[in-house]
Amino acid sequence: MSRVAVLGAGLAGLSAASQLVADGHDVVVLERDGGPGGRAGTLVQAGFTFDTGPTVLTMPDLLDRAFSRIGANREELLPLRRLDPAYRALYADGSQLLVRANASDQVAEIRRRGLASDAVALPGFVAWLEELYALEMPNFIERNFDSPLDLLASPKAAARLLGLGGFSSLEKAVRRWFRDDRLVRLFTFQAMYAGLAPAEALAIYAVITYMDCIRGVYFPEGGMRAVPTALAGALSAAGADLRYDCPVTGLIQDSSGKLAGVVAGGERIAVDAVVVTLDLPTAYRQLLPDLAPPRGLAKAAWSPSALVWHVGVRGTPRPGVAHHNIHFAEAWESSFEELVTRKQLMSDPSRLVTVHSLDDPAAAPEGHSTLYVLEPVPHLGADIDWTAERGPARERLHHFLARNGYPDDIVTERLVTPMDWAAQGMAMGTPFSLAHTFFQTGPFRPSNVEPRLPGVFFAGSGTTPGVGVPMVLVSGELAAQRVGAYLGGRS
Ligand SMILES: Cc1cc2nc3c(=O)[nH]c(=O)nc-3n(C[C@H](O)[C@H](O)[C@H](O)COP(=O)(O)OP(=O)(O)OC[C@H]3O[C@@H](n4cnc5c(N)ncnc54)[C@H](O)[C@@H]3O)c2cc1C
Repeated sequence: MSRVAVLGAGLAGLSAASQLVADGHDVVVLERDGGPGGRAGTLVQAGFTFDTGPTVLTMPDLLDRAFSRIGANREELLPLRRLDPAYRALYADGSQLLVRANASDQVAEIRRRGLASDAVALPGFVAWLEELYALEMPNFIERNFDSPLDLLASPKAAARLLGLGGFSSLEKAVRRWFRDDRLVRLFTFQAMYAGLAPAEALAIYAVITYMDCIRGVYFPEGGMRAVPTALAGALSAAGADLRYDCPVTGLIQDSSGKLAGVVAGGERIAVDAVVVTLDLPTAYRQLLPDLAPPRGLAKAAWSPSALVWHVGVRGTPRPGVAHHNIHFAEAWESSFEELVTRKQLMSDPSRLVTVHSLDDPAAAPEGHSTLYVLEPVPHLGADIDWTAERGPARERLHHFLARNGYPDDIVTERLVTPMDWAAQGMAMGTPFSLAHTFFQTGPFRPSNVEPRLPGVFFAGSGTTPGVGVPMVLVSGELAAQRVGAYLGGRS
């Protein structure tokens, strides 16, 4: 039996560990923090419990896979409920649109807003998304690439993607289906999840729209923190050794140059391979100081960052407020120009307000609520002094809450800025890693193998396939496949 260490108990690390356990390895997971989750974190403050990272949980079948391959039942250990509406979108003209869980409800919702021709277009749009998804998952997302030439291994899929308009702009592609600007925004803002403006993102990223608007947004019983907690528990039950408060400070090589172990919590642990899930530039700086980071990292395009304001308030939201509320500003193209190109704060920002306590009563005391307000802001490559900016930014967010009718009598709060993300080891102060430009996608994204130190593999949002909970779950599987090939080939 080979021994494999997984560095980090975030969702990438937990997914890798589950695949490695299933493959019969002796697995030790070494985590710096006091519990699992990483970016899917928790903050307990003044009687409130805040989920501090991902809020939009999609693609539960990828979680099912992580549980089932170690003989665990996701439905029992992590009950999920589909949110309906998935989103409430609010526009500057005072109108609203809901993203509904059910296709016929969605058609009715669009029709109800007086958009009859757009309602007729919806089924064709959904069929287009389904075809994109079915092509992209097996051929380009759930697979390891050794070189860009591997793209030629699926010429039919690539040709079909081209035929579907996958390499045109996302915004143009969605406009082919819908006339109303509000729908175009609703079905393209997901480009921001990939770190791009909708007009700049390729239409292949419509799969993100598919994953949340069509396949649905879910919420776990017990809050988002239940996801890593349940998976870590299932891993322990399946025999993995999970060690918390155990930072890894070094890698050990044998005389032939192969990985032979790790130094964690002051202890030397002999292992045959390692899956590193630290943010990639940090992994190179802290654990591989003698190796130059992958070439692309020096000149990489990084995703914008986010201000996240966690607020515990007296009172509950008025009827109609949804779990996820997107407040689209009047400005659109100019906002992306400011945020992505000029790296400035948006002068008229769009924001997401998530009210976890609506579906997680334990998050807030009786008669109180938790609010999670997210505003995209530039990463630390911008000329913004967050020490000076955090006060005014917090005031703007408070006015925004009050203006939009949310309870705003604050009991406790925490504002997270790009400086805080950087302090947690996230390059350029962004939790969303490398943007998904064409040359930072698929075989062009930093590889999950370090050939200069055999036995070292990577998972997480800085490597393939990319950013977000579904993608990092896949990244864990891909890294585990690499480990299997390495250890299998070695023996
Ligand atoms: C504010 C925010 C909102 C988001 N919203 C969404 C969303 O709505 N939907 C979505 O799908 N995704 C969202 N994401 C993205 C998603 O959360 C991440 O892509 C994903 O959780 C990253 O997981 P990971 O395992 O790759 O990284 P991490 O979670 O960062 O895991 C890395 C782990 O390594 C540990 N570590 C670091 N250094 C060491 C060391 N030296 N030794 C041992 N351990 C170490 C860290 O403590 C951490 O636990 C959001 C992220 C944030 C922060």
